[in-house]
Parts: sequence; structure tokens; C-alpha cells
Amino acid sequence: MSKKLGGIAALLWAINLSAALGLIALLYFSGILSAAARSEPGPDASLLSLAGSATRTPFPTVTPIPPPTRRATITPWPTPSPGPSVTPMVMPPANRQVIGRSEEERPLEVYRFGRGPVHKLIVAGIHGGYEYNTVQLADELIAYLFDHPEVVPGDTSLFILRNLNPDGSARAMGVEGRANANNVDLNRNWPYNWQKEWERDGCWIWRPIEGGEYAGSEAEVQALIAYIDAIKPMALISYHSAALGIFAGGVPDFPPSIRLAEAVAEVTNYPWPPIDTGCDYTGNLTDWAANTRSIPSIDIELTNHRDTDFAQNLRVLQVFLGWKP
Ligand SMILES: [Zn+2]
Repeated sequence: MSKKLGGIAALLWAINLSAALGLIALLYFSGILSAAARSEPGPDASLLSLAGSATRTPFPTVTPIPPPTRRATITPWPTPSPGPSVTPMVMPPANRQVIGRSEEERPLEVYRFGRGPVHKLIVAGIHGGYEYNTVQLADELIAYLFDHPEVVPGDTSLFILRNLNPDGSARAMGVEGRANANNVDLNRNWPYNWQKEWERDGCWIWRPIEGGEYAGSEAEVQALIAYIDAIKPMALISYHSAALGIFAGGVPDFPPSIRLAEAVAEVTNYPWPPIDTGCDYTGNLTDWAANTRSIPSIDIELTNHRDTDFAQNLRVLQVFLGWKP
């Protein structure tokens, strides 16, 4: 009897011991797993991890922002009032125009400054989500221009489309917000050099995404094509983030786009020529504008996915407003 009880006690001991060992093992592996989860890259880290690819040029270290080294001689503008305190929604409606609707019926808003015959266009937010800082920059520029309308030359009208992809912006602030509501990359849907799919080497690969059912299939792209054909801009800037630099629209090269890129590079520290990751940017806005509409066009990538680089882009605006092909 006592021998049997002793055997049961030993058995219970063994069960306790193995349970304790199991618990220790569980804690150990869950620690490893949560460390692995923490190291999963966010949008910035994901972009930078492209640099790990052996065949690609490494991405630059993007922070902090060094002072511009190629400052052109431009007359200083009035210092902006602190912070973008004014939001576009409360601005005088006379300067605001809805040029169309997104796939989910959100308004595509353009703000106009100046009444001159020379039209220039800035597009922000073509990639929603983690490129939201381009929309913030557009809003800061809009607020500045409401405070300082005198900076627009008398012969010029400046149009700012503050967010071409409001559906992406509404869906997410991260990489999930890049596409529009149909999971289309709005910078790959333009009817020039269009492809539904493309070689992903060196390109953005963080979510499945496509170029649309056909070239120009998306409501946002259709609205902007119609608007560009109506206002016939003499030059165009499309803002992105982050870090790759300034891209001149045109395949093959369109020399006026290159001259605009050079003029902007003079007053910024954004890489020019841009960093080449080997990606083929099929069906994009600036190639379409340059090659099918002969509009000098550039993409500008902000330094990161957070900052608006406002001081730099105020200089860009000044150069852009004064620029002639
Ligand atoms: Zn982009």
C-alpha cells in the first residue's frame, strides 16, 4: 500500500516536473516569436530592406535631413505663419473645385491660385496610405498660398490637387492604403506604356497590387485626364514618398522634364538623378503627361513617410511658379 502510494507520489512529481518544463519551454519560444513579430518591418523598414537585395543600389539613409547643398539664388519669400492651421475644408469655396469622384465617390478636390493664362499643376496623394505626408504637404502649400496669394505671378494659375487617392487614404495610413478601392496602383493605370502586371524586381512588393483592368480604367485617372486636357498645364509635379529622389517624366527622355527636374534639384537635397532600383514604372502619370501631352512633368519623392519637408518644398514651389520650359 505505502509502496503503491509512493509510486503515485513519484508519478505526480513527474507530471509536475514535466508541466513546469513545458511551461518554461512555452515561455521561451513565445519570447522568440514575439521578438520575431517585433522585427517584422514596417513601411519604412520594408522600403529600406530593399537595399538588402544584392543586385540593387542601396537606399540612402533618409534622416536627418541635411541642409541643401545646391541652393540656387532665389529671393526669400515671406516666412510662413507657424503651422498649417487652416484646413482646406474651411477655405473660401471660390478657389476650390471638385473635378470628379473616386471609385468610392469621394471628391477629388483642386485648389486654384491666380488667374493667369499659364497653368501649372501639382498632384499629391496618388499613392494613399503611407504617402499621406504628400497630402499634408499639399494642405500646407494651400494654406500658405491663401496667406500669400501675391507669390503667384500675374501670368500664372497654380492648381493643386490635394489627394488623388482619397479611398486609399480613408482605408489605411500604412502600405494597405497604397492602392485605390479596386486594388489598382493609380500611378500604373495611365494609358502610356501600360501593363496590368509588371516585373516586381526592384519595385514595391509589400502587397498584391495591379495596374487596372485596362489602361485608364480607374475613375481617379479618368477624372484627372479630363481635367488635364481641360486646363492644359504647362508643367506638372506629382508628389510621392519616400527617398528615391526626383524623376523626370518621359520614356524615352523628354528634355523639358529633365530641365524642370534640374531646376528643382538646385533648391532641394532630393537625389537627382533619382536612385535606380531597377524598377520599370509602367503606366505612370508623368510619363503619360510628358509623352502623350508634351507636358514637362516630374515626380518628387519626399525624404520619408512622415515629414512634409515644407521649407524645401516652398523653394520648389517658388522655382516651379517661375519656371519656363
Ligand atoms: Zn508613390
